[in-house]
Amino acid sequence: MTDLAGNTSDNRTLRVALLGAGAVGSQVARILIEHADELSDRAGAHLELSGIAVRDVDAKRDVDLPRELFTTDAETLIVGSDIVIELMGGIEPARGNLLTALQSGADVVTANKALLATHGTELFEAADQVGASVYYEAAAAGAIPIIRPLRDSLAGDRVVRLMGIVNGTTNYILDRMDSEGADFSEVLADAQRLGYAEADPTADVEGYDAAQKAAILASLAFHTTVPLEAVHREGITEITPAMIDEARAAGFVIKLLAVCERIDVDGSESISVRVYPALVARTHPLASVHGANNAVFVEAEAAGSLMFYGAGAGGVQTASAVLGDVVSAARRHIAGGVGVGESTRANLPTVPIGHVITRYQITLEVADQAGVLATVAGILSDGGVSVATVVQTSSEDEPTARLIIGTHRAADQALSDTVAALAASDVVDRVVSVLRVEGE
Ligand code: NAP
Repeated sequence: MTDLAGNTSDNRTLRVALLGAGAVGSQVARILIEHADELSDRAGAHLELSGIAVRDVDAKRDVDLPRELFTTDAETLIVGSDIVIELMGGIEPARGNLLTALQSGADVVTANKALLATHGTELFEAADQVGASVYYEAAAAGAIPIIRPLRDSLAGDRVVRLMGIVNGTTNYILDRMDSEGADFSEVLADAQRLGYAEADPTADVEGYDAAQKAAILASLAFHTTVPLEAVHREGITEITPAMIDEARAAGFVIKLLAVCERIDVDGSESISVRVYPALVARTHPLASVHGANNAVFVEAEAAGSLMFYGAGAGGVQTASAVLGDVVSAARRHIAGGVGVGESTRANLPTVPIGHVITRYQITLEVADQAGVLATVAGILSDGGVSVATVVQTSSEDEPTARLIIGTHRAADQALSDTVAALAASDVVDRVVSVLRVEGE
């Protein structure tokens, strides 16, 4: 490529600043150094790692990196860079650093889902103002290419629904509970020992991490800004081995899903974005996602069903997605022109969970006596929830029986009102669980 001054892109050098050298950053730095020639060939310019900003320049790193690259002065490193890669995590100073980078004309690459889900619009607007780009392939589902397919490959189609297993820790826990009949807390402790879960697992097991990714994916899929507060979120801490057994008996597996879909509310097009543990048919492609892997299942009007599968985390795996972005950023930088802005023109409203329509499986502990089934059926019918299947289990030693009720499709609000009525009824001792069915 030759620019107007007659310089060929091959002899251009782009300065790449790296912020953070932890699990992902240290691998990005290693690959940038080890594969410098190959990456430069693909980028069309020499990529020079100009420095690495960290908190502690003397900290031990996962890989050996030249000591002279390290600095604690991120702002000085950023100014004069062509590409800034942010792999520190958290909101500040990452947000301020990226705004400085964009304002000084750099393209930015980040894997920071927490930042994008809360301040994405601010960053995209700052990029638009200077014609730069924000690349974030690694921010949702790690190594799996899903941002580019949604942003580019499917830009001519209409995504109808997207269902993702986007948190490896919870998939690991639920998968082991399913295959071994193990208890939640037992598997969580194991996951922490093996490094699959953090010492404080709240962000994963309560669904916060998945909700951030759902906000990012839904924004892209539906060309709409989805604020994090609009994402309905439930975690997996209440899932018991008994619930997993009942799911299996009915042909399901329990997965923590991020579901983003178009829905019709009173004749106007809206979207729903939600994260919760759901029943998935064992024949659905998402049921075969085991261990800490991630997958995103996309349904589009013209393309039909597509499945993206792979490693959702891990330092070196995530580095792959980051470096893909670095090559794209370098190509754009050389080509010049305006960066790829975010398309949010559809501007669809994100509706509360009460509008969502799915099937449910309700498990009740009821008095083991005549007439109970009729009373329960009456409450469900009064609430506008129609019954598809009922399985009753009782034992001679117990005064109570279990009713496992599969419903037809109903609105979430109608279902939760009906469950409240069941809980208040004399014949119901306890509502054991209520799970939604997804992927039908
Ligand atoms: P990490 O291991 O905790 O590393 C964070 C790095 O940032 C460290 O090198 C740290 O410096 C540096 N840092 C933190 N605060 C800083 C500050 N105020 N100033 C300068 N440097 C600072 O994090 P990570 O796991 O690599 O994750 C990085 C990003 O990638 C996060 O946004 C994360 O959500 C995202 N991500 C990670 C994965 C994964 O598998 N790990 C997957 C997908 C996305 P010191 O080393 O000196 O403390």
